[in-house]
Amino acid sequence: MSTPLVVMKFGGSSVAGAERIKRVARRIARERTAGSNLVVIVSAMGDTTDELLALAAAITDDPDPRELDVLLATGEHQSATLVSMALHSLGVAAISLTGPQAGITTDGTYGKARIAGIDPRRVNAELAAGKVVIVAGFQGMSTKGVAELEATATASDVHAAEITTLGRGGSDTTAVALAAQLRADRCQIFTDVKGIYTADPRIAPDARQLSVIGYEEMMELAHQGAQVMQVRAVELGWVNGVTIEVLSSFEDAPGTLIKEDALVEQRNKVRGLAHDRNVAKITLVGVPDRPGVANHVFGPLADAGVIVDMIVQNVGHGGSTDISFTIPRVELAKAKRLLDPLVRELGFVDMTTDSSVAKVSIVGAGIQNAPGYAARMFGTLAEAGINIEMISTSEIRITTIIAEDRVEEAVRALHAAFSLEQPEAVEAAAAG
Ligand code: ASP
Ligand code: MG
Repeated sequence: MSTPLVVMKFGGSSVAGAERIKRVARRIARERTAGSNLVVIVSAMGDTTDELLALAAAITDDPDPRELDVLLATGEHQSATLVSMALHSLGVAAISLTGPQAGITTDGTYGKARIAGIDPRRVNAELAAGKVVIVAGFQGMSTKGVAELEATATASDVHAAEITTLGRGGSDTTAVALAAQLRADRCQIFTDVKGIYTADPRIAPDARQLSVIGYEEMMELAHQGAQVMQVRAVELGWVNGVTIEVLSSFEDAPGTLIKEDALVEQRNKVRGLAHDRNVAKITLVGVPDRPGVANHVFGPLADAGVIVDMIVQNVGHGGSTDISFTIPRVELAKAKRLLDPLVRELGFVDMTTDSSVAKVSIVGAGIQNAPGYAARMFGTLAEAGINIEMISTSEIRITTIIAEDRVEEAVRALHAAFSLEQPEAVEAAAAG
């Protein structure tokens, strides 16, 4: 039997400081001694990425995207080298590689690049040489540089080989992509929580850890604010059939498996709640009710990369209508800058913004097969006296926009209303 290959990813809190790095190294050493080949992906230490962003913001309010990506990538270089050194001092052969050195190529979009391909030769060579390979997460090299550089590179190709980062939380994507490419036997995401919970346990004290969750449910939860895994990483796992294990780097306890959920047909419950405070609502008042107006509003936002989430257009009255929509709160200033000129150009009455709203969602594959979830959700919020400002749904999710200062209350009330603290019948049966 060939040696199993395990991909292990450690998030920022797991490598925050020398002591934690040494602890992570001991965990890696233990796994190595047990006989696996290891590829380890690390995030930047603690809040390093935020600190680097703040530093850049202190220099200029319009940092060059190329320079910013090179800067941000250094956070992961630090942690990768330090984990490698910690392994050396335990007598474990190891080498750190940057994303580009690990053969990761991207589409070249600064700040949110997508992985275009992985050339695994260097990683495989280091594994074959008996080393644990530590890869700096969250980064790669824009494609032109690598394949085409070889014999035929021109000066402009050389300039096109640029370090690009994969978007916040992107080390998860690095890990899952490497696991898929290398056909790893396991893909483990080590984090500061024990796994995926029915709700944020800091808010809902009786939140329960799930042993298994399907890709689609996990994507919805992550998309709606559950912070544990990056959405794109889950998507990549889904597409490539990589089972992802989310577990604590601080204790030895079983985590949560993200995989094709065989029991999905039998589940008839809401599986989890997610909430998100990074939301702002924009309302355009008195928008002329004629063809092309929505396009005029949302076109520039899309071009600027502002992700519009929920959109509600009221029934028109007297030739005009109101349009409300939500965007990430961190993009509010940018969105206002883009929309301000339109107020005059298109003849709106007014534009109002509200950054004190938040999203609360219920997610579960069972939602699509059974009626009554929406009624119970809205009824629960009504009983708590919480006003719903907007609603959106997918097949397996219902999302409401409410006032931010009622979020915790809403999460607790919904958790109780859907009895999420109780194991599902199919799980109880499976457990015997
Ligand atoms: N360090 C990056 C971030 O904070 C990437 C990651 O943590 O996965 O977003
Ligand atoms: Mg992180």
